[in-house]
Parts: sequence; C-alpha cells; structure tokens
Amino acid sequence: MRQLLLLIFVFFASQWLFKKLKRAQAAAGNAHAGAGTARTSRGPAASGAPQLPDPLVRCAECGVHTPSSEAIIAAGHRFCSVDHAQRHAARPTGRDAR
Ligand SMILES: [Zn+2]
Repeated sequence: MRQLLLLIFVFFASQWLFKKLKRAQAAAGNAHAGAGTARTSRGPAASGAPQLPDPLVRCAECGVHTPSSEAIIAAGHRFCSVDHAQRHAARPTGRDAR
C-alpha cells in the first residue's frame, strides 16, 4: 500500500519535472528562434515602458517632482524652474531662512 502511494508521488513528481523541462526548452527555443523579430515588434507595446525614460527629481526649493530632463540643475541642486533656481541661489542658506 505504501509502495502504491510512493509510486503515485513519483508519477506526479516526474510529470512536474517533465513540464518544467519542457517549459525551459520552449523558452530557450523561442529566445533562440525569434530573438530579433518577435521581441522587438512586441516588446515596447506589450509590456509598456518598464521604467520611465527620465526619473522624477525633487525641486530643492518647492519640493515639486519634475522629470530630470526638464529640471534645472544649479549648484548641485535640482529645481523645477529657473525661477526657483535663482530664488535658491539668492538665498545662500536656504534652510536657515525658512
Ligand atoms: Zn520648485
């Protein structure tokens, strides 16, 4: 009786292993066969952008988050606008003034 249970267990285990192996082989085959065409045409549309092209940076003056491409960098700080950069520069000790 115990042997029968063991047999069933082995059967399921082997099936699971077989499935896993098959999936790994299929994945390897897909990557090998359609690496160029299938992925490039589908990649951007299907998955969307996994990461934003430019990360948001925090304005040192007002704390607003701005895309890094639009942010103004002055004196090692990032600002949402030139106005804030100038305002921050006019105040050498910004934290004390507050
Ligand atoms: Zn600002």
